Amino acid sequence: MTHSPFDADVAIIGYGPSGVVAANALGQYGISAIALEREVDIYPRARAVTVHEWTMRCLQSLGLDEEVKKDTDVSRALRWITYDGQELMRMNSLPGNLGHEQAYAIYQPLLEETLRKGVERYEQVSVRYGNEVTAVDQDAEGVTVTMRSLGSGETSTIRTKYALACDGGSSFTRKYLDVPLEGETLPVRWIIIDAKVKRWWPNRHILTFWSDTERPVVDIALSRGNHRWEMPLKADETDADFDSADKVWPLLEAFGVTHEDVDLHQWAFYNHNVRFAKDWRVGRVFLVGDAAHLMPPWAGAGMQSGMRDSFNLAWKLREVIQGRLPSGLLDSYQPEREPNVRFYTDLSVQMGRLVKQEMSPEEMAAMAPKPGELPPMLLPPFYVDGWFSATPTPESAVGKMIPQPRVGDPRGVIDLLDAHLGNGFVLLGDGIDPAEVLTVEQKAGWDSLLARYIAVRQPDQGTAGPDELIDIEGTLLEWMRGHGVRVIAVRPDKFVAASDSAGLDVPTSTVAGEPAPATK
Ligand SMILES: Cc1cc2nc3c(=O)[nH]c(=O)nc-3n(C[C@H](O)[C@H](O)[C@H](O)COP(=O)(O)OP(=O)(O)OC[C@H]3O[C@@H](n4cnc5c(N)ncnc54)[C@H](O)[C@@H]3O)c2cc1C
Repeated sequence: MTHSPFDADVAIIGYGPSGVVAANALGQYGISAIALEREVDIYPRARAVTVHEWTMRCLQSLGLDEEVKKDTDVSRALRWITYDGQELMRMNSLPGNLGHEQAYAIYQPLLEETLRKGVERYEQVSVRYGNEVTAVDQDAEGVTVTMRSLGSGETSTIRTKYALACDGGSSFTRKYLDVPLEGETLPVRWIIIDAKVKRWWPNRHILTFWSDTERPVVDIALSRGNHRWEMPLKADETDADFDSADKVWPLLEAFGVTHEDVDLHQWAFYNHNVRFAKDWRVGRVFLVGDAAHLMPPWAGAGMQSGMRDSFNLAWKLREVIQGRLPSGLLDSYQPEREPNVRFYTDLSVQMGRLVKQEMSPEEMAAMAPKPGELPPMLLPPFYVDGWFSATPTPESAVGKMIPQPRVGDPRGVIDLLDAHLGNGFVLLGDGIDPAEVLTVEQKAGWDSLLARYIAVRQPDQGTAGPDELIDIEGTLLEWMRGHGVRVIAVRPDKFVAASDSAGLDVPTSTVAGEPAPATK
């Protein structure tokens, strides 16, 4: 009997939102993983406040959306308002087209708890709490991760094929690998105050940005009866000025919140960052989530970006580890994810300017969505570069996430599209069997990726075979026709990899083979 030199396929360093999504996705794909987490308990501070529909679709793919939704509230609207009651801008929620509501208010510790429970479904994924990673070394074959048990003080190692550094903004791994973290930490200190609601006050559920040059306040209903205020300290204020509840209360009382409204739960201080790690891949180690990028909280996209990073990497690791695609596929991680994260970071910076009243009326008008238009933070997900058969353009289907309507199958079962598509590659044809338009080589390529071929039909048509779906809402076919495509090849993350108009070859990986590992 031969023994594998590896303890698992993947080491996950850090088990916050990014790490736990990676663990769920790898678990679902049958990839073995060991997660290493310094803390024993979930970080108790509720940092992230929002989950948008793209992220909820990822959680759906992990079989966790319904469970997560139990601890969320649907977000209804955002408004920017001055203390004297002038509404500068308002964005009402519109129906989403990715299969879920556009936005949900969350309570981060509960979300993380549900995601951690999700990992327990997978025998081949284990979590070692109370272990601090102290070295991440690699060679041509794999990665050796060294950890110290915070309980016993003992040091041990594990050997894996790849490692995901999900160890947060002050990432040990990033520093150990000497990857620069470029950008800036903004000088203004913010206090975030979390409270438990005792009685409802007018419009509590509307996420309100109190816009002001001196004391702008973000006023957010979290789920499960929690509420949050975030505000900057003034130039002459320090953390020490707010070292007791009695000193924090006046900040809330200043805009009418009383002891009858809430119980103060906890508060913390932090600075905003606009920072990006230079390289998100060093050999067999990938920086994920806050370890790779940090943005201000205004667009509510920090945690979600980390979860999407994990989701982006997990299926690629599956394809590479299971031998269907070359490891160069993994080089598409940063080209896909970084521009996308930069998009939300820029948006977040602009939203911050609006809150601080630093925007001219012209800039505000340009930023406000026109009637019926989606606000930028809810634009359909897109990538501008990466593992695609052609470079994505603003008009192309390639590089975009497909919508998720409810569709029917030949046996009359109506469900969300992804429930029918599963987590593999799927080619969809508008009224035709997509396999019919492929060359022999193209078909062989998609076959080798275990792709499925599905004809999508209009509801006024019948089905003729088992691999067909009925687009009862018409939105999928409308989307395809709007992008001028009849056949699309959809990746496991529901982004379009190839189309008949851009070419239906399986995309080639930029680099075939491992890049030279960093010597350390
Ligand atoms: C005030 C505030 C508001 C925010 N609001 C939002 C929002 O509305 N929406 C949003 O999407 N995001 C928001 N964010 C950002 C969000 O909280 C973070 O982006 C998210 O938590 C990052 O997840 P992560 O898993 O990458 O890192 P983290 O959550 O930092 O997790 C890293 C984990 O790694 C562990 N770890 C670190 N070093 C080691 C080591 N050497 N060995 C073992 N384990 C280690 C840590 O203990 C931790 O559990 C907000 C952040 C703040 C501060």
